[in-house]
Amino acid sequence: MSTIDLHMHSTASDGTTPPGELGALAAEAGLSAIALTDHDTTVGCDACAAGCEQAGVRFVPGIEMSCERGKPAGAMHILGYFVGGDSELLRDVMTDQQKARDERAPLIVEKLNALRFDITMEHVLDAAGGGMIGRPHIAALLVERGYARSIKDAFDRFLGKDGEAYVRKDYLPTARAIEAIHDAGGLAVLAHPVQLRCEDDEELTDTVRRLVDQGLDGLEAYHCDHDGALVDFYTTLAGRYDLLTTGGSDFHGSRKPIAMGSQRVPADLLDRLLEARAARR
Ligand code: AMP
Ligand code: ZN
Ligand code: FE
Ligand code: FE
Repeated sequence: MSTIDLHMHSTASDGTTPPGELGALAAEAGLSAIALTDHDTTVGCDACAAGCEQAGVRFVPGIEMSCERGKPAGAMHILGYFVGGDSELLRDVMTDQQKARDERAPLIVEKLNALRFDITMEHVLDAAGGGMIGRPHIAALLVERGYARSIKDAFDRFLGKDGEAYVRKDYLPTARAIEAIHDAGGLAVLAHPVQLRCEDDEELTDTVRRLVDQGLDGLEAYHCDHDGALVDFYTTLAGRYDLLTTGGSDFHGSRKPIAMGSQRVPADLLDRLLEARAARR
């Protein structure tokens, strides 16, 4: 069976590949379908769709929203699939998120300057290249300028939750993210559940149940941070709550050592998504 990749980033957020080039890479990797899931923006989707059409790869427009976790550790990212059309609600959410990113970056730079690092907002804007500003852009600068040994080191010591230059951003309630995705005709999926850093299965199931009550449609089972046992675990969990499953590599171009298509996600997962979407209409 052919494989797909439903999680990747472009230069519209913190990936290094222009959205228009992803389709050709996907064809090269032997993928039959991909989704573009940039952080908090869909601006790359039109260009990605055109590239995919040319390459003969099926395209799903997507988004990955950074949401409030409700506790200090771990990320809560909600993926939206088939987000299209003209949803005022989704547009408002994206605008708010962009504003939050634009406001956070100078605060991070301030903290880095207090550490006597020579990093300016100009450097950051240049690194982001007009796309959504993300911490990986700042991490790359820290590495480039010799303040950190690696992207991971930059997050561990400076930009991550326990880092010296950490600034909180993720205030978007999951209920609002899910509502916006639905309003745009999409399906809402909990991204990389392992990154929630739940202390036990009870905390995980409580979190999933709460999201299901808010309208969650699926769980991301395949992800570069999930080994085979976790893929099985999240697939079983999804079954228990009658949720769809999705998966992807979380490809970021050269920003991360993860290849597009590396998670070998079976194409029939996309068939299930398409059926759910058709039933919704
Ligand atoms: P932001 O959107 O600014 O909150 O940054 C989130 C991005 O940073 C995501 O793409 C993550 O994969 C990446 N990220 C978060 N923590 C780390 C880490 N410890 N090492 C490398 N990348 C990370
Ligand atoms: Zn990212
Ligand atoms: Fe994520
Ligand atoms: Fe991602």
